[in-house]
Amino acid sequence: MRAQHHSFSDPHDQHVLLTPGPTPIHPAGQRALMRSMLGHMDPEVFELNREIQADLRTMYGTEPEAFTALLGGSGSLGMETGFANLVEAGDTVLVCANGSFGRRMAEMAARYGATVRLVTAPLGEAIQPDAVAAHLSGVRMVALVHGETSTGVLNPVEEIAEVVRDSGALFSVDAVATAGMRPFGMAGMGVDYAYTGSQKCLSAPPGLAPIAVSERAFSRFYARRSPCPLWYCDFEGLYAYWVDHTYHHTVPVNLHYAFHAALHAAMDEGLEARHLRSVTMEKVIIDTLGPLGFTHYVPRAQDRLPTVLALRLPDEIDDEAVRAELRRREISIAGGLGPTAGVIWRLGLMGESARPAPYRRLMEELGDIIDRPDLVHRYDEAVGRHFPASESLAG
Ligand SMILES: *Cc1c(COP(=O)(O)O)cnc(C)c1O
Repeated sequence: MRAQHHSFSDPHDQHVLLTPGPTPIHPAGQRALMRSMLGHMDPEVFELNREIQADLRTMYGTEPEAFTALLGGSGSLGMETGFANLVEAGDTVLVCANGSFGRRMAEMAARYGATVRLVTAPLGEAIQPDAVAAHLSGVRMVALVHGETSTGVLNPVEEIAEVVRDSGALFSVDAVATAGMRPFGMAGMGVDYAYTGSQKCLSAPPGLAPIAVSERAFSRFYARRSPCPLWYCDFEGLYAYWVDHTYHHTVPVNLHYAFHAALHAAMDEGLEARHLRSVTMEKVIIDTLGPLGFTHYVPRAQDRLPTVLALRLPDEIDDEAVRAELRRREISIAGGLGPTAGVIWRLGLMGESARPAPYRRLMEELGDIIDRPDLVHRYDEAVGRHFPASESLAG
């Protein structure tokens, strides 16, 4: 039996976080947290912010001068900021909702006074572009979750962008489960607003929401009949700090340090390489767990989100008991939400968790718990098959 340690200084007892957010912090981000405090108006911080803004343009694939910024809050603040700035009471907003984050968007849009029109799909299935096309008349904004973390579904953002483009509606995309882990062509698709959370695919500490705003979204914002009801994240106020370098509110400078380092490491690695990492890890995990009776929850291969592997459990595995035992051994994975609770596991393949080493710990401990000591050997073989020799188990 493994002893319980809670010392953060012992590198062998680090908690293994394999949930679809938060993710383990990138080592460079972890080190950056140690830097001494500076003021939010100091020139060094504005220079750091400028580099963050440039890397975010690359990450989101924006136009060269597009506005990017960090909000002091989690991914949900990114979501709320879009509705607060781009929707006014009485506007019709089409929300694509095939999971709990899509439903969260509908709730927020309604709180800002929108008339919400829902386009849905059965759980585990993607939103159909034709269904969006059929409901576009009179719509001011379309909101879509690119990767629905609650079910592991990838929605076809390019195809939906195409139908939205001709309608003249604004297009807002929740890229929380995708941006930073695959190329995202905001300008090419005609996306007007996109956001993520620092603790998801970028493996930075939680507490920041990176956003990107198109020129067109800014013009719609400036044509508002009434001020944005959310003062803290009003586009004009954000612009004042991030572009004009005047005081608006105090940004969390030390979170900016860590975010800067993690984002820079991600851009260095490259978005294609990061995407390949999650796709390859998905194959390794399926090869390992498939023989135990785990199957994909999302039936169609093209609807599967590589950063959140949703697996249906075999009958022999008791979801709560096994996850509790894993948690006792300092490994966290996520179960289902609502209707999928007890039915699926959701394995995060975002940022630093999408690597062979942390999942080896899961397979080792899981094999021990369910009395299948062969599990870790099958895992090692799968890693050897799918990863080039250069990506060792230490990676
Ligand atoms: C996690 C998540 C959110 C919410 O982010 P928080 O950082 O928890 O506020 C929104 N959308 C998606 C797709 C997510 O995965």
